[in-house]
Amino acid sequence: MTTKEILSYLQNEVSTTDFERYLKQLVYKKSSSNDDIAVFEVHNRFVANYIKTKYKAILQEIFEKFSDTKPSIEIKIAGERRRSKKEIMDEKSMFTTSENTILNQSYTFESFVVGNSNKMAYTASKAVAAKPGVQYNPLFIYGGTGLGKTHLLQAIGNDAIDKNKNVIYVTVEQFMNDFLFSIKNKNMDHFRGKYRKCDLLLIDDIQFLSGKESTQEEFFHTFNELHNNKKQIVLTSDKLPSQIGGLEERLKSRFEHGLKSHIQIPELETKIAIIEKKSELNGIVLTREIIEYIATHLDNSVREIEGVLIDINARGNLLGHEISLEMVKNLLKEKIKDTKENIKLPDIINIVANELNIKPSDLRSSKRTKNVVDGRRTVIYLARELTHNSMPDIAKFLGMKDHSSVSKNISKANELIEKDEDFRLKLEHLKNKIINKEYQN
Ligand code: ADP
Ligand code: MG
Repeated sequence: MTTKEILSYLQNEVSTTDFERYLKQLVYKKSSSNDDIAVFEVHNRFVANYIKTKYKAILQEIFEKFSDTKPSIEIKIAGERRRSKKEIMDEKSMFTTSENTILNQSYTFESFVVGNSNKMAYTASKAVAAKPGVQYNPLFIYGGTGLGKTHLLQAIGNDAIDKNKNVIYVTVEQFMNDFLFSIKNKNMDHFRGKYRKCDLLLIDDIQFLSGKESTQEEFFHTFNELHNNKKQIVLTSDKLPSQIGGLEERLKSRFEHGLKSHIQIPELETKIAIIEKKSELNGIVLTREIIEYIATHLDNSVREIEGVLIDINARGNLLGHEISLEMVKNLLKEKIKDTKENIKLPDIINIVANELNIKPSDLRSSKRTKNVVDGRRTVIYLARELTHNSMPDIAKFLGMKDHSSVSKNISKANELIEKDEDFRLKLEHLKNKIINKEYQN
């Protein structure tokens, strides 16, 4: 295995942000003495810790897959010397706090492809970056995974930084860690000074505030302070404020108060434009035929499209294969097969139940209330489309007598897809969640 091979595999498996920020730095050092340890180097401890916590398993998996070994993974700091206590403390706080907000430089408005599916969110984001705190406060961007929420949020940040604004970009998780760290170290003044004095506060994936009561409390005050001082707040979420369970009413109503902007799954033209742009940026040359093939066969998320382009690039530029329509067709076939093998019936039940506010057990019962019947139909349709299960398998899993009712439900769903736009959009949204395995139980 070489560093290059490992990186090209990782690039496919992890988010672009993480890859660009952290994993790209990895250098694989062959361990001379034994096969039980694989040593990697990076340049700083923060990155090493991050990779260790989040990606150890994937790194191991790579070795298992390609060299049939399962070494333990060690991540070292290149050229490390003994560090002073102060340095160690500083880095500890850096890891737990987010003083070091780094924005991905490539997430800009220029690199964002605008189409009907995201025009509103894009326009609102531009407006907010141009005049923070004046219009649309808060701006609440919501939509499924991999559709560009983080990209837009960071584009606002990059733009505002260029205008010398004081910007904080954090995920809810970072905000929470920062908060807990400050409590522990009795350093709340510092925390408040930081979060309440910025010009723009950009918080990613706000749905994860769910159930975090003390963090919600603190965030409520942060929000009010910023809002009263006409400072801009931008939030992203995978769902509407009203749909986030375990979130205080007063926060919901604050979030509802500004502008809510939905990013949808891109329509064909936008997908084509995105593929053109991304392949150009990555120096991949694709024929019109191939571009259209990818656009018509991937309908899940932009992240998925990027993943495919990276694969094509790996096979084409790195392995020297010709990039033909045939090769792309095979590659997509493999991907779809892998996805199907990874999705299990309980995943579908749980995600549908969560999104539609139905109990998972009701979906597997014989209950006949309208929402349960509709929900069950949705589960059946998605199970057929997204997994390899046969109709009898699905019937059995849902506790139905035989597969004829499964087949009736599928016909009915197909009928609805034709004439009911809402139903179709809802299915797409659920598909996106299931494929991205967003469990929330
Ligand atoms: P989300 O935060 O909604 O899950 P991201 O913002 O992380 O999604 O987007 C996933 C990937 O897709 C990113 O690499 C992003 O640059 C890209 N992407 C999404 N939408 C667009 C778009 N309209 N134009 C260009 N790139 C996009
Ligand atoms: Mg995101």
